[in-house]
Amino acid sequence: MRTNCPICAKHQNPENSPLLQGEFWRVESGNIEASVKGYVYLEPIRHVEHWSEFSQEELIEMSELVPKIERAVGRIMPVDRLYIVVISEAVRHLHLHLIPRQQDDQEKGLTLIARATQHRSEIDSHVRREYIEFYDTLRKLLKSEN
Ligand SMILES: [Zn+2]
Repeated sequence: MRTNCPICAKHQNPENSPLLQGEFWRVESGNIEASVKGYVYLEPIRHVEHWSEFSQEELIEMSELVPKIERAVGRIMPVDRLYIVVISEAVRHLHLHLIPRQQDDQEKGLTLIARATQHRSEIDSHVRREYIEFYDTLRKLLKSEN
């Protein structure tokens, strides 16, 4: 826990519930304003700023969660590629952006990554509801099996 860290603060907030909580990591829904369906964050529970600070156990759990997320998202929508990006520039607490690209997505590569990570689009309430339902389904899938 680090003060002034938005990720630590989010983890402490009882109103925020992750899609999945592991021993060392949390899977959180990505920002809905990004309008990238299936976009999730993988965040270490511990405030870690450098890869070299991770324990072996933390890295093992991360490596298990990535394919688990890929499978679960893939059961809801056709994922062609799953991009993984770590920037952690403005927010130093390391976190992985998992950005699925669907078969028929027009945007690819850096364009899609930029849209996901900059999340500036405006979405209406109808779309917002659709995303909330999507993440509810994903939460159930992540908790059920894989
Ligand atoms: Zn933190």
